[in-house]
This record gives sequence, structure tokens and C-alpha cells, in this order.
Amino acid sequence: MSTTRPSYAETRETLRWRVALVLVALMSTLMLALGLLNTSLGLTDTARLAWIVFTLNATSLLGLLWLPRRAGTMAFFGVILGLIVFAIGFGWWHERPLHYWGFLFPVVVVFLLPAWRAMVAMLVFGLFVCGVAMLQIAPIDVVRFASVYGLMVCFVTTYALLEERAGVMLREVGDRDGLTGCFNRRRFNEAMARRVAPRAEATRLGVLLADVDHFKAINDQRGHLEGDGVLMAVASTLQRALQSEAERGRAKLYRYGGEEFAVLVSGRDPAQLGLLAEALRSAIAAGGDGLGPGEVTISVGVAAWWQGSEAPEAALQRADEALYEAKRGGRNRVVVAPG
Ligand code: GH3
Ligand code: MG
Ligand code: MG
Repeated sequence: MSTTRPSYAETRETLRWRVALVLVALMSTLMLALGLLNTSLGLTDTARLAWIVFTLNATSLLGLLWLPRRAGTMAFFGVILGLIVFAIGFGWWHERPLHYWGFLFPVVVVFLLPAWRAMVAMLVFGLFVCGVAMLQIAPIDVVRFASVYGLMVCFVTTYALLEERAGVMLREVGDRDGLTGCFNRRRFNEAMARRVAPRAEATRLGVLLADVDHFKAINDQRGHLEGDGVLMAVASTLQRALQSEAERGRAKLYRYGGEEFAVLVSGRDPAQLGLLAEALRSAIAAGGDGLGPGEVTISVGVAAWWQGSEAPEAALQRADEALYEAKRGGRNRVVVAPG
């Protein structure tokens, strides 16, 4: 497990956390300036509001620095949303219309919620602001507010949906191997790391390592381009042989390295894993997808892992040793690691 780059979710969390830090700095500076200016001008009410925002911001900064990043970021944007609602309520209480603070709501809530839920929150909040504003300002001004607010909701929701879609597409591209279309090593590492996370997905995991036999000879005799074609054919044959397990969400195929593939299987005992590995081996040996019968063979090492028994890497190590035993034993075979 040497490649431990942050996952997509971690990267997004870190970016949001950094945005929150920049906003805290900007808002604190602005509120400090407003507080000082309004105090010197004798506008005590407005100055008080600025000092309240400044203090909440400073508290959020402590949260951002000391809480886990996700919690700190959520707390910061939650505080800003609370402030917006407070400002409008404050204006209502003091009979001073502050409904225009509502324009800030859409651009803050998208940091907290997925696009569609954010849109629902924006609409509910918009109705609340219109209700409050109706009691304070002329109906035509409420209509003006609602029109501009509605436009903002459209733009912000569209942007958030595009950003989510781009994120999904990027993640899909970043998780796949460029040649075979299988999940790549990075995704494999993430899947292994998830097994030791506090809320791990499955209690039982099978690790299958499959290596194409004498692949260097294929490259040497037929050239690297044809070698690439053989790798693609091997991947699609393995994918097809795994289809029923994959459809049940129990197995995933990864390109582990050059001509090595890995399969992670959930909820199967060693005997079942051995049968699955044998099915993969015989599917390749039987040919198809442009491979003749017996043209290409694979050796497979299998290891089973139970949660709490050992680190998942230990199972990977045992699968690797089993693979080498299969190679030493003459190739085109499956070896299941003991224990
Ligand atoms: P063994 O049966 O012991 O596994 O022998 P092997 O020849 O398959 O193993 P070896 O490790 O000696 O050679 C693997 C070769 O796979 C070497 C490398 O050039 C080739 N290879 C790795 N990645 C790719 C790739 O993406 N495309 C092609 N064409 N060849 C690759
Ligand atoms: Mg190899
Ligand atoms: Mg090989």
C-alpha cells in the first residue's frame, strides 16, 4: 500500500475547508473594519451587529482549526446560515427590513447540501423571506426580491448540479485504468483501506491475484501493441466471468499492475473463492474475446481475510505468495493460501 493519495471525497473536503478558512479571514477583516467604522460614527446598533458577526467568525475559526475538517467546515457554513436567518429576524423585530440578506443564502447552502436538497432549502427559505418581507415592504418590492432571488436559485442550482456531475465524471475517469477500463490500483488501495475503517463494509473479503503467464514472451513475439490487445481481451474475459458476482455487488476487478489483475470478493469462504478463481482461470484458458483456446493462460493466488484477524495487506501478501506458488507449480493454475 505505498500509494496513499487522498481520495476524491477527501480532496473535496480539504478544498471546502480551505474555502471556509479564506472566507473566515475575509469576513473577519470586513467585520472588524465595519465595527470600528460604525463605532467611530456612533452607529452603535450596526456596530453591534458587526461585532456579533466578528465574534461568531472568530469562534468558527477555532472550530476550523481544531475540529475534524468536515465537522469544522459544516459548523462554519452552518453558522453563516444561522447569521443570515438571524439578520432577517433581527430586522423584522426592529422593524427594519433586512430581507436582502436572503441573497446570501443560496451561495452558502450549496456548500452544505447536495444540489437538489440545497434547491429545496433555497425555495423554503425564499418563501420564509417573502413572508417576512411582506409585512415590512410594499408588495412590488417583495415581487422584485422574489424575482432576483428566484434567478439566483436557478443559477446556483445549475452550477451545483454541473459541479456534481463533473465530480462524478472525473472520479469515474480517475478510478479507471486507461488501457483495460478496469478499476485501477488507486481504487484498489482505497477499497483495501476501507476494510480497516471504523465502519468497514464487509466482514469477509477474498483477495484474488491473477497474473498472465509468460506475457513477456507474447510481447517479444507479437509486439507491445498486440500485447496491449491481449491485456484488453484478458480484462474483458475476466469481467464477463465475474459478471454475476459483480451484479450482486460482491466482486470488483482491478488492474493491479502491468499484466496482473486483482479481484476483491465480499462474503465468500475460501472454498467458494477457490471455485471463483478456477472459473476465471478456465474462462481465460478456454479463449474468446479474440483469444484462441489455450493461447493465453493465467495463474491465480487466492487468500481469504476476516475482519479483526489481521491487516488486509497480510491477505494481499498471502495471495501474492500463493500466486508465486502457482507459477512455480507450472502456471495455468489456482493456489489458495492456507489460513
Ligand atoms: P510469468 O509467467 O512468470 O508471469 O512471466 P511473465 O513474462 O508474464 O512476467 P514478466 O514479469 O517477466 O513480464 C511481464 C511483462 O508485462 C513485462 C512488461 O513489459 C509487460 N507489460 C506490463 N505492462 C504492460 C502493458 O501495459 N502493455 C504491454 N504490452 N506489456 C506490458
Ligand atoms: Mg507479473
Ligand atoms: Mg506474468
